[in-house]
Amino acid sequence: MRAVNTVKITFPSRSVNEGFARSALAAFASQLDPTLDKLADVKTAVSEAVTNSIVHGYADTIGPVTLTASLYEDDTLRVVIADKGCGIPDVAKAMEPLFTTGGTERAGLGFAVMESFMDSVKVYSKPGKGTRVTMTKRLKQR
Ligand code: ATP
Ligand code: MG
Repeated sequence: MRAVNTVKITFPSRSVNEGFARSALAAFASQLDPTLDKLADVKTAVSEAVTNSIVHGYADTIGPVTLTASLYEDDTLRVVIADKGCGIPDVAKAMEPLFTTGGTERAGLGFAVMESFMDSVKVYSKPGKGTRVTMTKRLKQR
C-alpha cells in the first residue's frame, strides 16, 4: 500500500530525546484525528522502542536513532525505530516478557508493551550492526 504521508527524524541517543520522539510522533499521528486512547498507545510504544535504542543499543556511547513514521490510505500508522548500536543476538529470546540484560533496573517488559499496544511489532537486528523495530497500528476503523 502507498504511504500518503511520511516523516523521518534522526536524533542522537540522549535520554532527553525520548520525550521529543514521543511528541513528534504524536504530532504526526494527530493529522488522522485518532482517539486519545490510540494516540497514547502509539506514544507509549515509541517511547519503549526509543528508550531501548538509548539504554541498550548505545549503552556507553551516543549514536544516531532514526524514527520514520508513515500514514497509509487505510489509516494505518507505521513507525520504524532504527539504531546502529550493539544489536540483539537472539531476538526471539529478547522479546520474551521479563527477559532483560538490564539487571535489576529494568523489568524486561518493553517489547511486551509494544506488542500489546500495537497491531504488529517486528524486530530485525544484527549484533554489532544495530536494531530496527517496525510497528503498525490502525488508527481508525472504517
Ligand atoms: P524495560 O523495557 O521493561 O525497561 P528492557 O528494556 O530490558 O526492560 P525490553 O524492552 O523488552 O526490556 O527489551 C528486552 C531486551 O532486549 C533488553 O534487555 C536488551 O537486551 C534487548 N534490546 C532491546 N532493544 C535493544 C536495542 N535497540 N539494542 C540492543 N539491545 C536491545
Ligand atoms: Mg525496554
